[in-house]
Amino acid sequence: MTPDEVRRYLEFYQDLGVKTVFRRQAALGPVIEPRGEPTAVLVPELPALEPTGDTLLKILEDIGDCKRCRLHEGRNKLVFGTGNEHAKLVFVGEGPGADEDQQGLPFVGRAGQLLTQMIEGTAKKEGIPLERSDVYICNVVKCRPPENRTPQPDEMEICGQFLYRQLQAIRPKAICALGSTASKALLGTKEGVMKLRGKWQRWRDIPVMVTYHPSYLLRPYNQNAKKEAWEDLKKVLHYVYD
Ligand code: URA
Repeated sequence: MTPDEVRRYLEFYQDLGVKTVFRRQAALGPVIEPRGEPTAVLVPELPALEPTGDTLLKILEDIGDCKRCRLHEGRNKLVFGTGNEHAKLVFVGEGPGADEDQQGLPFVGRAGQLLTQMIEGTAKKEGIPLERSDVYICNVVKCRPPENRTPQPDEMEICGQFLYRQLQAIRPKAICALGSTASKALLGTKEGVMKLRGKWQRWRDIPVMVTYHPSYLLRPYNQNAKKEAWEDLKKVLHYVYD
């Protein structure tokens, strides 16, 4: 582990209330401290960052009544995710809007209705028997950002840990990243959706297709992008379900 990974690992588990014990290398033997940095020793019983045998229920329990970032302050309901725990395909959005915050479910507002049409309409046209409930849908951040603003990097980083655990627990055949927040969170790139879409990317070993966020497609001046989004979805559905 790099020092940065160790720091993130420790912060993550401290956030979860896990007591972490540091011991100076000095207590264990001769001190060898390159560049004078103290050496942290992890207690071996600590669970792995993404525990093996992790489940969505366990992740939900770990999130609990989350107050790890400022987004909890305006939250009505935390929006964890919905759909098939064993889905072959996961859609990742940005974060809950007003309707989602009210209902505690992702993509239930206008953008959600369009997403349902995109999934079910494309599947039907392509002769693939698929309903929205067959896939899994979640977001990068689980609480609604005020005024639907874009989630900030620290909010994405804190909540992203849970997204990664969700993806690792489901282990879908492919992921569809909706919009730039999802693509940033999964691919760690600032490259825009227009550049990334239509070609397979990768999150760890799972193929990722980036496409436009349904909210973007709802804007009247972005109608040309609709065709491209449908093409992206066709590619994903055939890859996953053929
Ligand atoms: N937009 C998102 O990114 N996610 C939702 O759940 C709803 C709208």
